[in-house]
Formats: sequence, C-alpha cells, structure tokens
Amino acid sequence: MTELIFRDDGYRRSCNARVTAADGRGIRLDRAVFYPMGGGQPGDTGVLRLASGPAIAIVDTIKGALPDEVVHVPASGSALPELGTELVAEIDWERRYRLMRMHTCLHLLCSIVPGAVTGGQVSDGRGRLDFDVPGSSLDKEAIATRLNALIAEAHPVGPRWITDEELAAKPELVRTMSVKPPSGMGRVRLMEISGVDLQPCGGTHIRNTSEIGGVAVTKIENKGKQNRRIILALAE
Ligand SMILES: [Zn+2]
Repeated sequence: MTELIFRDDGYRRSCNARVTAADGRGIRLDRAVFYPMGGGQPGDTGVLRLASGPAIAIVDTIKGALPDEVVHVPASGSALPELGTELVAEIDWERRYRLMRMHTCLHLLCSIVPGAVTGGQVSDGRGRLDFDVPGSSLDKEAIATRLNALIAEAHPVGPRWITDEELAAKPELVRTMSVKPPSGMGRVRLMEISGVDLQPCGGTHIRNTSEIGGVAVTKIENKGKQNRRIILALAE
C-alpha cells in the first residue's frame, strides 16, 4: 500500500520515500507526495533526489493499475533507481500551488453556474468547466464579480469523508457527470467550501478561498446547443 500524503496534506512539498518498483512504466514509491493525474487535475512534476548519483526529473505522475498506485514518470533517458533505494521526493511546488488555487476556484464556479458539469480541466494558471445550460444566459462580468466576491469572503476549504451508501442517498452531491467519484472503496472523499460548495473530489485544494487571489473569466464559448465552456485565468 502506498501512503497517499497528498490526499491528507496538499501542502506537503516533499517526503522521504523508498522505491518499491521501477520499470518501463515509471517509478513507484512507498509514499506519494506527487499527485497522480485524475479528476481534471494534472499530475505533478518535480524531482527525486537520491543520496548519491544524479537527481531524477519527474515529468508527469499517473495512476497505476492497482488501487492507490502512483507512477512517477521520469524524463526520458533517466537511469532508474534500484529497488529499495531511499530518496527524497520533491514536487514542483510553485506549479502545484497554482493548480490547487485553480482547482478550488473551479469548485467555486460550480456553485455559481446552474446546470450539470459535463467536463473540466485544471491547467497551470488556467482552468475550464463545461456546463449543460440552455441558451446564452451566462454573463461573463457577472460570473467574474461573483467569483471574486466568494474569494474575498475567505471561505475555509477542507475534506470530509462519507460512506458509499451516504453518497448513493445524495446523488445531488455529484456535480460532474464526466468525473465519477471513486466508489467501491467503502468511502468517498468530499471537498467542502464552507457555506458554498460540497462535492466528491480526490484533488488537492487550498485551505481558504482567499489564497486564490484575483481571477478573470477569459471567455465563454458555445460548445453546442446546451453546452457552455467557461474559461478562467488566475490574475497572477
Ligand atoms: Zn475537484
């Protein structure tokens, strides 16, 4: 079993870890501070520092075939570490923090726009959500004003766990039709923005909406009769 540090503490930048597997697919460690791509959030990049020899640059992180398996993808041409090697795993924190700020910001957007979410993507400094909403009722400036107000109100953000049964009894919690919450593990992780939003999410988030800073609605695109894509950008 891999200890998923990023899940309990999104602010951890590094950890000591041991190599449990290393092959053509990538490097697996007993502890994961690197977030693997999923739920619309990209995988982390960073570096694995060994006691001796060159550091290994990690260009992506993905999920493996086993539950909780995290695969660190090394830069091509990297020498793979031996099984059991002790190392320090360190994420590119600047990038990850921008991803966390945008991820939480997209949850705020969810709470503002009515209609089911049909897709979404967190990117570095940018993000988008697709909504199933009829007509062209969405106003760019109004959404931006509301978003920035929620950010300024400094709402606490944090995880909460419920059982599969509790989630099944409350299907309205699931806003994103394209990203099914992981079920069958007995429990589901919810992300709560106090007084604003509550939905299943396995991603990494900031602790308070004020950390997002300013955000702009860059564009609202028509992606079909009932599909509107809202694109956001962090102010810095
Ligand atoms: Zn999320």
